[in-house]
Amino acid sequence: MSAQVRPDGPAPRESATVTTLRQQNRAAALRFVLQEGETTRADLARRCGFSSASAANITAELIEDGLIAEVGSVASRGGRPISVIAPRADGAYAIGVDVGERGVAVELFDLSLAMVDREFRGGRSEESYDDIHRDLTDAVAALRDRNRERWPRVLGIGLGLPGVVETESDGSQVLYAQSLGWDPRPIPLDLDPDLPVFAENGAKTQARAELWYGAARGIDHAVVALLGRGVGLGIISDGQLAHGAFSSAGEWGHTKIHAGGALCRCGQRGCVEAYLGANAILGSWHEHGGSFDGSGWQAIGALLAAAETDPAAGGVVDEAIETLGAALGSVVNLTNPQRIVIGGWVGMRLMEHHLERIGDAVRRNCLERLGTQFEIVPATFGGDTVALGSALMPIMALIDTPRVSLFAV
Ligand SMILES: [Zn+2]
Repeated sequence: MSAQVRPDGPAPRESATVTTLRQQNRAAALRFVLQEGETTRADLARRCGFSSASAANITAELIEDGLIAEVGSVASRGGRPISVIAPRADGAYAIGVDVGERGVAVELFDLSLAMVDREFRGGRSEESYDDIHRDLTDAVAALRDRNRERWPRVLGIGLGLPGVVETESDGSQVLYAQSLGWDPRPIPLDLDPDLPVFAENGAKTQARAELWYGAARGIDHAVVALLGRGVGLGIISDGQLAHGAFSSAGEWGHTKIHAGGALCRCGQRGCVEAYLGANAILGSWHEHGGSFDGSGWQAIGALLAAAETDPAAGGVVDEAIETLGAALGSVVNLTNPQRIVIGGWVGMRLMEHHLERIGDAVRRNCLERLGTQFEIVPATFGGDTVALGSALMPIMALIDTPRVSLFAV
């Protein structure tokens, strides 16, 4: 790649289809401005490795296309004001969807990645694939009705899905949600008559949100571990999200930590998720005499609070931290990260209370040298980042789109 966006900028890649040098530079510049929020032509030139003239040309083109705008100025040392450039919020929109097993959150983002509208469907109980498909179609239609003016500049719909999302050789995608007991199903492409649909595993979309805007930003080698009801992982290698041969890399939740151990939702035994998923942790507390309401955020909070004084609850938390250390220690040995980001709603709560202990547990469970080479931090985003991360899929397609075909009619 010619564009060098370093040391603390976004990775220049994550774009497979960019062809010409001019287009590569345009893509790197647009991505940089989208990630920075506000910047200047001089920063763009420096961070993307462009000449001042190239930065000025590319900026002029992106302003003309309505994707970025001059939003003010700052004083320079020479006294002349320098223009500040930023994404033009109404330049384009993207829909990001968090598809859960209990419903869908469909969110409309502007080009500054601010959420401008939202529709939730579901919430009944565990839904079937057909329920989800209907909820998606209804929610997108509701957003369209409320956002008629914006709709011509909506780029597409990004779906963050609870399972393996595989791309076939003809470009179609299939969802394998083994843990939910769904048969393999094609990704629905008919959610809106005009909008393309992109799909990715939900953990990967969250990892991408952390890579673009959060705790993994500017880090070439990182892992984003997500602990919630399920357990997921995004592996960032050379500044890009790792996908593997069929886009399913990073299924850490179903790697084995105990041969023949506890039964997992996937049907196998001894998976990381069977020990570190919310239900597993709370199940262990229940077995040790804990009583609590629900199976979610509050119950995990109650466990962590009880652990301060109650030895039984303390033992459950100690065991979860040790298990997390062992499971992540293996990830460190496999990937040699500079940074471990821990998120998901269970992960965030554990990190609030026990960041130091978790770091120590990981270091005890990886090779000594590798244990000196990473830092461990909480995720920037809480458990509700799937929609934002999913909206980045149509945005990435915009970044890679040649100028001539933008919003072609
Ligand atoms: Zn499993």
